[in-house]
Amino acid sequence: MGTATLNPASERSLNLTTIFFVVVFHIGAIAALFTFSWLNLGVAAFIWWFAGSLGIGIGYHRLLTHRGFKTPKWVEYTLSVFGTLALQSGPLSWVSTHRIHHAFTDQENDPHSPRHGTYWSHIGWIFRGTSQNQTEETMRRYCPDMIDDKFHRVLNRFYWIPVIALAVGLFAVGGIGMVFWGIFLRTVVGWHFTWLVNSATHLWGSRRFETRDDSRNNGLVAALTWGEGWHNNHHAHPRSAKHGLAWYEFDINWIEIRLLEMVGLAKDIYAFDPKKQEERKQVKLDPVTDAA
Ligand SMILES: [Zn+2]
Ligand SMILES: [Zn+2]
Repeated sequence: MGTATLNPASERSLNLTTIFFVVVFHIGAIAALFTFSWLNLGVAAFIWWFAGSLGIGIGYHRLLTHRGFKTPKWVEYTLSVFGTLALQSGPLSWVSTHRIHHAFTDQENDPHSPRHGTYWSHIGWIFRGTSQNQTEETMRRYCPDMIDDKFHRVLNRFYWIPVIALAVGLFAVGGIGMVFWGIFLRTVVGWHFTWLVNSATHLWGSRRFETRDDSRNNGLVAALTWGEGWHNNHHAHPRSAKHGLAWYEFDINWIEIRLLEMVGLAKDIYAFDPKKQEERKQVKLDPVTDAA
């Protein structure tokens, strides 16, 4: 696709610091292949789960961005800290970018639409523009519910500190090999899996709902992202904490939210039920969390 120039964001300057770290992490990920051990693999997989599933999918996305359920504050903050371990920016920046994506999906102002190029939607948008480091003005506009929360403000600014603490811990326990696996390789794999939600699930897959965007349900991306790949369902019903709507649409993040509910850590869960569509139409939509 050679239409990248249509997006004004693609004309913005390069984020050299971001590019530097993305390159370094990819080199670290390759280095990890020379320090394989089953323990290192297991540690990487475990961190990938709580950073990617509990942190990004459940914390940043279904809870903070869309408010599909409620948790005690300490649970919300814990999930946010797990989210920072994925190194996808701080919670205020991430939530702002994602709410902008829902407000302008596959239109001119979408931060990462494949209509501006497949490469752009996967990684190009991270190398340019301000999506990874939203301005105070943008965050205030798109995160009115979080912008004055001190914990989230500090975490947003210093989101890279928890991963450094984790790296120090891994080094102490398992040496440099465990750092290569648990930090570098795990982060790079997690990045590409998350980025597939922005690229692949707006290009390839099936559509249950006739949404105005190009969103798709993609089983492969869902398998790689703990259920975030049922993206057409999600764009049709953004607030729903449940993305997989059929028995074959496996949604681990949803199962985990139900488990949180069972132990009393999640309540007021909103889950879209295809059988009760009529009832849904009567519910008043929230302009921020329901932006579609
Ligand atoms: Zn999308
Ligand atoms: Zn969303």
